[in-house]
Amino acid sequence: MTINQSGWKPTTPEAGETEGTTFTGNRALMLEEPLLFEIGSLDQTGVDFADVPGQTSRLAGLERRKDIGLPGLSEPEAVRHYTRLSRQNYAIDLGLFPLGSCTMKHNPRLNEKVARMPGFADIHPLQPVDTVQGAFELIHKLGEWLVKLTGMHSVAMSPKAGAHGELCGLLAIRSALEARGDKREVILVPESAHGTNPATAAFCGYRVEDIPATAGGRVDLEALKARLGPDVAGVMITNPNTCGLFEPDMIAISEAVHAAGGFVYCDGANFNAIVGRVRPGDLGIDAMHINLHKTFSTPHGGGGPGSGPVVFSEALTPFAPLPFVEKTGEGAYRLVEEENAEDHHASSFGRMVAFHGQMGMFTRALSYILSHGADGLRQVAEDAVLNANYILRSLDDVLDAPFGFSGPCMHEALFSDKGFAEGISTLDLAKALIDEGFHPMTMYFPLVVHGAMLIEPTETESRATLDQFIAALRSVANRAKAGDQSLKAAPIHAPRRRLDETLAARKPMLAYKEPVQAEAAE
Ligand SMILES: *Cc1c(COP(=O)(O)O)cnc(C)c1O
Repeated sequence: MTINQSGWKPTTPEAGETEGTTFTGNRALMLEEPLLFEIGSLDQTGVDFADVPGQTSRLAGLERRKDIGLPGLSEPEAVRHYTRLSRQNYAIDLGLFPLGSCTMKHNPRLNEKVARMPGFADIHPLQPVDTVQGAFELIHKLGEWLVKLTGMHSVAMSPKAGAHGELCGLLAIRSALEARGDKREVILVPESAHGTNPATAAFCGYRVEDIPATAGGRVDLEALKARLGPDVAGVMITNPNTCGLFEPDMIAISEAVHAAGGFVYCDGANFNAIVGRVRPGDLGIDAMHINLHKTFSTPHGGGGPGSGPVVFSEALTPFAPLPFVEKTGEGAYRLVEEENAEDHHASSFGRMVAFHGQMGMFTRALSYILSHGADGLRQVAEDAVLNANYILRSLDDVLDAPFGFSGPCMHEALFSDKGFAEGISTLDLAKALIDEGFHPMTMYFPLVVHGAMLIEPTETESRATLDQFIAALRSVANRAKAGDQSLKAAPIHAPRRRLDETLAARKPMLAYKEPVQAEAAE
């Protein structure tokens, strides 16, 4: 194989595939990008810092002793590498991101502008409290909005993602139970729950038991009531649930759980669908996380930052985590921490994070909330539900909508693979959508629906965009039903063909090695 001047390896055309191949492997603006390890060099580096004389490490022997073998590149080489890769990726600013359960929506540029204001962006968590009163005001004000929008009693701002918020809520529930000398062992979780719910409960030492669903995709109230008892610490219920349906029995569920001495945790990841319309506090919920990065439009994905404030009922408030920002007077704020928690927070379960939470996310979320206002937020929920129902009803003649019979959906439309020709799967359809220029929907989740396709358009998509997506999905759905075997090869127009997902999961390459031959890997 020849290596051209810049060190790139031309891709060898596959058998019978000479047409359209280029010497470099590039296709005009679609550039073939090698790994960093292939273009960088181990003896090249940007900056080497000299050891600081007389400085003893505070890492107590944990510091790295060996070279980690990262390739050196110049700044333009590094910038080009990542920019080229980014052009092969899909992004919310390129097109519709129909991922259900994720609420991927437009992040207004205003949020970014405000988050970059130096007074918010350049402060340090160890700065004296009297120099960051404005930041505290912002955190406090955002907290007030979250409490008001949810109709709850208090809020903990520090959890750093939805799953972290779940942990926060369950730790508060456990503390409240322990405070009354009540050792309970079980958390009930519906079958359709997001994987983080049972994982959180298990992490907190609870035994997880499933609550079955009704034919209409909701929690089976009678089955839940039958399971309640003195060993049940609480339930974790997502509302709207992961099938994109509102749980209409929520008040009855809360009453039954409370009567049995347990607590109600609500997974609030889907709050986008009900914000401004329903207040979880009115449904008897004791704790709920809000994913700021879903409902309040802050960027997420790719392992980026999250923020998962948790709102609490009056009963759980004394157990909420430290630290939190407290208003002491007009424009004056203090931090309630371990040292000064005093009587009103002496029962706190403790601290979850070193500092106060994700300042950049708080700034974006408050910008979003203030620019929409209360009426605008209500409109968000209404439009999100309208868009999802538009998709549901525009496609339910070609795709099976398992709960379509039970009425409108909330913010996401759920379909199954029923009716696909033998041998054609949801995965094939999703890969074909890539060829059509769309990011696939969430697949195979929730698990309660066979070959599930969960589509959340969000409120930020126009009717024209929805129509294009619907037309593309309709065409691949028709191919799936007709048994078009070419679907098995999709995607054929993407920068990469279908990957061997089993190999990727079983033998991940976490450091660069010479490429593994497919036969050798098996
Ligand atoms: C996204 C999501 C979570 C987890 O939230 P993270 O912020 O990703 O940790 C939990 N439950 C549901 C229903 C979700 O959609």
